[in-house]
Amino acid sequence: MTETPPSRQTALAFLAHPDDAEFFCAGTLIRLAVAGWDVHIATATPGDCGSMTLPADQIAEIRRGEAATAAHTIGATYHCLEERDVNVVFDKASNRKTIDLFRSIAPSVVFTHPRHDYMLDHEQVHQLARSAAFSYSIRNASSLPLVDGSIIPWLYYCDPIEGRDPYSGDPVHSTACVDISDVIDRKIEMLACHASQREWLRAHHGMDEYIEAMKRHSATRGQERGIAYAEAFVQHQGHPYQQSDILKDIFGDE
Ligand SMILES: [Zn+2]
Repeated sequence: MTETPPSRQTALAFLAHPDDAEFFCAGTLIRLAVAGWDVHIATATPGDCGSMTLPADQIAEIRRGEAATAAHTIGATYHCLEERDVNVVFDKASNRKTIDLFRSIAPSVVFTHPRHDYMLDHEQVHQLARSAAFSYSIRNASSLPLVDGSIIPWLYYCDPIEGRDPYSGDPVHSTACVDISDVIDRKIEMLACHASQREWLRAHHGMDEYIEAMKRHSATRGQERGIAYAEAFVQHQGHPYQQSDILKDIFGDE
């Protein structure tokens, strides 16, 4: 257990694909950036399956650019582990890469996917994130230098897609919430950077409302709390993680 607040104000969203952060936690990242935090967005893959027409290397290059542009709109830094879509696995090589990424960023707050989600890339990233969050501050867990202020971070799980458990279909009950009403336009701006995906989702998912779907879910989470737009999270409370809700402490939301 460490002090509150942490000595490093560094947040990392580690998610599977480019645009996942913009769907699930970008409003919170925007507010952290406004509050002076150093924000990083990392994805396991460059989204190489995200096109019905372009070859993998071409769409990957486009999507790396879109993710970096979206991150830059809030002064954040984009990283990619260069795994491949539908092939993210929790294995030794990926675990090591993820620990090294966390080691170099040394986040005190981490956002990642929930344990259960609609596709396994998300679930595997959840495991990678848990492993790296737990271990990056252990001296012998990585050969990279240990940054001062490295800690077991506050760990938050974003909503699964549509906020529903994929097995039961039941709504996920959040334990933390951030009011993003004042930054919804900037969240939309970030999501709109992923121009290549509007068309792909229309073709593959039959989902024609890339931005409207994000707004609807943010509005649903907001309505639960009587506000316009919100992002909801489940905070990891297991031993030996941070127990306080640092998002509430930072933002002072009710
Ligand atoms: Zn994804």
